[in-house]
Amino acid sequence: MRLGECMDALATLDREDLDALQGVLDTCTRAVLDPAMWGWAFGITVACALVGALIGLARGRWLAGLLWGAVLGPIGWLVMLLSRPNRIECPACSRGNPPNVKACRHCGVNLQAAARASERAERKRLDSGRGWQ
Ligand SMILES: [Zn+2]
Repeated sequence: MRLGECMDALATLDREDLDALQGVLDTCTRAVLDPAMWGWAFGITVACALVGALIGLARGRWLAGLLWGAVLGPIGWLVMLLSRPNRIECPACSRGNPPNVKACRHCGVNLQAAARASERAERKRLDSGRGWQ
């Protein structure tokens, strides 16, 4: 690996020898421009982005997961795991649904009607005098 050669050259460098300094500079420049290293960096970034997208998909936000995974890698995965899922919970079966669906994908309950009903129930509960006294 060229990066290892660069580190070895730096460790044994004679600071008075200008030719040796130029040699180390050349070695390190070759190490930084090594296409194999950039290939690895690109591959690891794509892999982290895909894992992030999978985590985000389970939480209803695959694009955010893809970007967090690509930019921060495993830390981005943690960000997605700790974020609030962007899913609507079905009041009938308690399973998650994507935010834009009208009916529950698991039991078929109309989610908008169910949301209105639970909103009415909540208002009724608050109006029933069981609030602050
Ligand atoms: Zn349901």
